[in-house]
Amino acid sequence: MCKGMRIGNGYDMHRLVRGRPLIIGGVNLNHPDELGLDGHSDADVLTHAVMDALLGALALGDIGKYFPPEDLKWKGADSLFLLSEVVRLVEDKGWNIVNIDSVIVAERPKMKPHIEKMREKISREIGISIDRVGVKATTNERLGAEGREEGISSHAVVLLEAK
Ligand code: MG
Repeated sequence: MCKGMRIGNGYDMHRLVRGRPLIIGGVNLNHPDELGLDGHSDADVLTHAVMDALLGALALGDIGKYFPPEDLKWKGADSLFLLSEVVRLVEDKGWNIVNIDSVIVAERPKMKPHIEKMREKISREIGISIDRVGVKATTNERLGAEGREEGISSHAVVLLEAK
């Protein structure tokens, strides 16, 4: 008998700028034009979407509530560390993470060579097996902000089960 399940949805976008690293899913990528994601933390758009999905599943708000951008403590923060904090919160509330699915929307660079490493890093941080962490990537067919390479966005869903 199912004791309880929750679903959560997360979305994030960061602007592409010069002079910043391009970190997605904890992996440092090389952009052909040396662009990276702007933000207060390391601006890891995928990890942020996953965190918001986890918080959303329990209606706990969003990452801005827990790691406010005006707090200097989180400047340049490693988003995988922030993810581990969110996972601890979810577990402390009495929930297990069943699986995660996500998608990165980016024209360039090619995500495919890095997807396995992203899955590995996220699954390790969460403490679930890699086959429970889906990371996909798509271009936006040159449409919209992602298509014009103004930014990179990410969507994530998670499923939780009561312990
Ligand atoms: Mg963000």
